[in-house]
Amino acid sequence: MKKYDVIVIGGGFAGAASSIAAARGSTRVLLIEKGNCLGGASSSSLVNPFMPYSTKINGEETKLTGGIFNEICQRLEEKGAFKFLSFLEEELKLVLNDMVREAGVDLLFHAYIFDVQREDNVIKSVSVATRQGVIKIEGDYFIDATGDAQLAFLAKCPTELGRKSDSLCQPMTLCFRIGNVDVDEFMSGFEELQKAYKEARSKGEITNPRENILVFKLPVNNVLHFNTTRVVKLNPTDAFDVTKAEIIARDQVRELYDFMKRNAKGLENSFLMMTASEIGVRESRKIVGEYVLTEEDCRSFTKFHDGIAACNYDIDIHNPEGSGTSHYYFPQGEYYTIPYRCLIPKGVSNMLVAGRCISSDHGAQASYRIMPTVCSIGEAAGVAIGLSVKNRVPVDEIDVKEVQKALKDNGGFVGI
Ligand SMILES: Cc1cc2nc3c(=O)[nH]c(=O)nc-3n(C[C@H](O)[C@H](O)[C@H](O)COP(=O)(O)OP(=O)(O)OC[C@H]3O[C@@H](n4cnc5c(N)ncnc54)[C@H](O)[C@@H]3O)c2cc1C
Repeated sequence: MKKYDVIVIGGGFAGAASSIAAARGSTRVLLIEKGNCLGGASSSSLVNPFMPYSTKINGEETKLTGGIFNEICQRLEEKGAFKFLSFLEEELKLVLNDMVREAGVDLLFHAYIFDVQREDNVIKSVSVATRQGVIKIEGDYFIDATGDAQLAFLAKCPTELGRKSDSLCQPMTLCFRIGNVDVDEFMSGFEELQKAYKEARSKGEITNPRENILVFKLPVNNVLHFNTTRVVKLNPTDAFDVTKAEIIARDQVRELYDFMKRNAKGLENSFLMMTASEIGVRESRKIVGEYVLTEEDCRSFTKFHDGIAACNYDIDIHNPEGSGTSHYYFPQGEYYTIPYRCLIPKGVSNMLVAGRCISSDHGAQASYRIMPTVCSIGEAAGVAIGLSVKNRVPVDEIDVKEVQKALKDNGGFVGI
């Protein structure tokens, strides 16, 4: 049976950054991903652009996410694949492949974790479904970067689904793109289009519960990116619900494109270019870890002694029940930090969780879930697990100050 110091599951921003950070610390790392590339939601669900991650502190524009995320952005920029926070995901996939290989990470694609072997409070190995059948792989330490806290759930660590009151999660969205668009022409008629959309919704001609059309430009000409379908009240961890969500969202894509062809400017020669290969999941399971980050912590701009990442993205809650999106925007200069304890699941001593499924409530998750911040969380998890490997200690016994120092040394920001 193959054996690694660290096994990371999930190759999104959190998992990629975790693996790179851990491998740079000289540990033997395997990164397991069910898809054929890295990037997670950005590549499989076409999530774009990066949401903003800076603020003015003492009069100076300060990036709250640096480190590996900054390295990724620089490489994208060098390839002309990064503009106003939007990026080309095909270049991102290449950049991430390069970065994990340079760090010495072993990769296993097309591999789905479906079981874990746990003895007392130690995870020993994971079972992975692959093209050659089931493989078991042993590890000394694990990082769950699946977005769904899949490993933690399989290991029977406590997890929670969605919001506390009714377990409903933020809506799922199938992103799509329209090609051969006259973008300037489309934008010149956008206000009118929004009015027509609202009117059509009020008449019941549009079934999508989303209140408006959400569109973004990309760093290429003639293409528009839509993050505007909305599927509510389905469980992103239930296989049949997710299938249902994919079908509902695809119907919404057709409905919206037909509507826009009739009502928008600039789409005369357009075509429906692509939909994401997987519906995007904003929220699903989160671990209940050593500390549960709350919306109140975020709104109070709390700085924790064991902060390993910082964030000021708004508390952006797409209504889990239907129409409407609520926002709480952080004042200029204010931010909160994310404690290391939120990465530590209860009940096991050799696993960390990174990304959108760390320990928090629904409101806090609605803020830190953005790609820049989950990348910072991932980097911290990788550094911390590297220290656990080096010192042969449980994940809750490492010195967090060492993690903070390593993150800062790599250009990261963990709070002032
Ligand atoms: C529709 C939508 C719009 C969004 N808009 C923005 C935006 O504009 N800007 C922004 O910054 N953020 C946005 N976000 C948030 C952001 O994209 C995600 O929260 C973030 O990418 C999550 O990163 P992650 O690494 O934690 O998880 P993911 O990116 O979900 O990565 C998890 C990885 O684990 C893999 N995996 C899962 N289960 C298994 C398994 N059992 N075995 C093996 N592999 C597995 C998956 O294939 C995936 O690659 C949006 C999210 C959605 C869904």
